[in-house]
Amino acid sequence: MTLPRPRVAILGGGPGGYEAALVAAQLGADVTVVDEAGLGGACVLTDCVPSKTLIESSTTMTSLRRSASLGLQLENGDNPDVDVDAPALYARIKALAAAQSHDIAERVADEGVRIIKARGCLTGPHTIEAEDGAGTRVDADVLLITTGANPRVLPEAVPDHERILTWRQLYDLPELPEELIVVGSGVTGAEFAGAYQALGSKVTLVSSREHVLPHEDKDAAVVIESVFRRRGMTVLGRSRAEAVRRKGDGVLVTLADGRTLTGSHCLLTVGMVPATAEIGCGQAGVKLDGRGFIEVDRVSRTSIPGVYAAGDCTGVLMLASVAAMQGRIAMWHALGEAVHPIRLSHVAQTIFTDPEIASVGVSQAAVDRGEVAARVVKQPLATNPRAKMAGIRDGFVKIFTRPGSGVVLGGVVVAPRASELILPLSIAIEQNLSVDQIAQTFSVYPSLSGSVTEAARTVMEYGPDAIL
Ligand SMILES: Cc1cc2nc3c(=O)[nH]c(=O)nc-3n(C[C@H](O)[C@H](O)[C@H](O)COP(=O)(O)OP(=O)(O)OC[C@H]3O[C@@H](n4cnc5c(N)ncnc54)[C@H](O)[C@@H]3O)c2cc1C
Repeated sequence: MTLPRPRVAILGGGPGGYEAALVAAQLGADVTVVDEAGLGGACVLTDCVPSKTLIESSTTMTSLRRSASLGLQLENGDNPDVDVDAPALYARIKALAAAQSHDIAERVADEGVRIIKARGCLTGPHTIEAEDGAGTRVDADVLLITTGANPRVLPEAVPDHERILTWRQLYDLPELPEELIVVGSGVTGAEFAGAYQALGSKVTLVSSREHVLPHEDKDAAVVIESVFRRRGMTVLGRSRAEAVRRKGDGVLVTLADGRTLTGSHCLLTVGMVPATAEIGCGQAGVKLDGRGFIEVDRVSRTSIPGVYAAGDCTGVLMLASVAAMQGRIAMWHALGEAVHPIRLSHVAQTIFTDPEIASVGVSQAAVDRGEVAARVVKQPLATNPRAKMAGIRDGFVKIFTRPGSGVVLGGVVVAPRASELILPLSIAIEQNLSVDQIAQTFSVYPSLSGSVTEAARTVMEYGPDAIL
């Protein structure tokens, strides 16, 4: 006698949803995904993938600007005549995102997953109703909610899609913003401010805190802020934007202390709100926290048996990699596989400024607060031979190790492509490696990754108890 296949219904097709769908299908479940925008979700269509594609172009622009210092003569020296063709740039970004979404949909469909392109709503703990014209009802044994989050907007700064914008509207602009005011200096604000500055916009970054990237490694944030200023950006610290209005062909930003700023466009990067308000959490009995995020445990269970949630709608750590892992864990758990609860302390992440900031494991802030006992070594990139060849002046490799044993507890890399350079430290943390094991590992000469092994050798030289 064959047992009936478990039925899995997933609301939302971003990384949390589609990665879960793949796992569930591979485990033999009958899987349906209901998504209104397209597979890949906001991650692929409007947020992560488009912003990183834009940043690839802006980083190339920065390299072109540096060319004179490398002995290459472009017309106009430090200000080379490279025109940004904004419609072409944005068209490339949108085409790439659409193609990526299409590839994911094909892959998921190949695994036998049913995709319903429609808005959906929970009508109970076992049912999603799709607004697909036919009122399709999806009954399931296991339900996963992965509806993501949306940009927060301020009542006094309502986007008009032309001049006052969230990042989701940038790629429909007919031109590059001439004078861009970025409100919010967290990760998203810093990434876009740096990218537009590099592309040629005149950028003002408005930060309510003293410095940019207030929640990140302080040494890294200092590097980024000084690079921003050196490249001509105006960075306003301790400046809270209170209102943004249209003024003729531009915008007027009013700060809390009464100062005003004018620009051609304003980009709002003031956080995210979970997309949980109108998806029927109440009907299903799913509990939300005070800010509207779905409460989950470390295997993605909500307050209702059989109902799981993953990704940005849970507010756990708003990263695509975390959403995907939460989604997979949910399915392994629901379908009876052995599963480890999610380990957030091992998540590697990157801020895609130029240079990038990548980090993993314990943070400097936790060490400074005395929550973790760790030794810290910081190796500047400026002494790295490959960095000198490439004209790279800014950046460092920082390693946190356990006193006595020298086991690697965390790391921060500030460098071009730090997102790639963080991997050895990630592996070290996952595998419980000690700093001498990194120090004894070959790195290529010359290479930026040589600074990782050199930092490790510095710890060995001075002993694991030295503070460097
Ligand atoms: C500008 C920006 C850049 C980022 N860059 C990075 C990065 O470099 N690296 C990284 O790891 N993370 C990055 N992130 C974060 C990353 O995009 C999110 O963590 C990720 O998208 C979360 O995935 P998710 O599956 O939870 O939701 P999403 O990707 O938001 O997908 C949710 C899906 O659910 C659909 N949906 C919502 N409600 C319904 C409904 N009622 N019915 C049907 N469908 C519905 C939505 O349309 C969407 O398709 C970035 C975020 C932003 C804002």
